Amino acid sequence: MSTVTSLSAFTEPDRPADLQIRFVTVGGSYVDVLGGGEYVKNRWTCHGCKDSSRLPEQDHLWSIREKANGHASACRAIPLT
Ligand SMILES: [Zn+2]
Repeated sequence: MSTVTSLSAFTEPDRPADLQIRFVTVGGSYVDVLGGGEYVKNRWTCHGCKDSSRLPEQDHLWSIREKANGHASACRAIPLT
């Protein structure tokens, strides 16, 4: 029995204008990094479990990227829409 979720089972949400990076999670959902780019404030939010960046809520892209990717690697929530 396979535990791998097919990525094609879910529809990718629309891409916001300020979307910098989109990570797929282990649950088949998405974590979006939103903001202005490398050296300005960016944040992440998860479409699966509704968690988001905090402490700091916004940060440079090099920092937010690592945190968003770490969340995507651990989040097992599936998209509900
Ligand atoms: Zn999540």
